[in-house]
Amino acid sequence: MNPDLQDFGRPAYFEPEAIGKPGNRRFRLIAATDQRTAALWLERDQLREFSTSLQHLMTQLTGEDVLRPALEAPAPPPPPREDFPENPDVEFQVGPIILGYDEDEEAVIVLVAPLEIIEVDGNATLNSDAEPQFRVALAHDDIDAFIQRSESVLAAGRPRCPYCGQALNRPDEPHGCVRQNGHRHLDITPSA
Ligand SMILES: [Zn+2]
Repeated sequence: MNPDLQDFGRPAYFEPEAIGKPGNRRFRLIAATDQRTAALWLERDQLREFSTSLQHLMTQLTGEDVLRPALEAPAPPPPPREDFPENPDVEFQVGPIILGYDEDEEAVIVLVAPLEIIEVDGNATLNSDAEPQFRVALAHDDIDAFIQRSESVLAAGRPRCPYCGQALNRPDEPHGCVRQNGHRHLDITPSA
């Protein structure tokens, strides 16, 4: 195991947040123990992929679908933590993330490696074998909370359907609107 691995064990918190104004937001995972803090910067798509992977893992582990109902509009994300330091102890750009499960701890293990660009056959390539430098162990409740917060963070700043409130990637994205009977362009003539 990497001697530089920062093991946060079961952290006081491990959560996603977005910094900045809508349209120009930066995303990161922040974590804290009693003694240490970490800020792991990542792209919006990485956060979405990570959250989706956690959802799939939880579904496998519990046999339950932890996805919130797709048509429910996520709550707005809570304000950033005032007490999070400007210069955390651990900070890097996120590369590969490895998920595992510790049966003794009944915890999901998250290993995060930094983004490393290597040269393969003369081409700049993402190093998928980068050594993990950060580890947390998360209980099921922690993961449910993380997933819900991810949805809130990802949905904030996106356009919303004016009928049902669902967050969309584009204002005109078709989405099987529940308020429009599942059909976006369905024309219903009132009978009364
Ligand atoms: Zn809608």
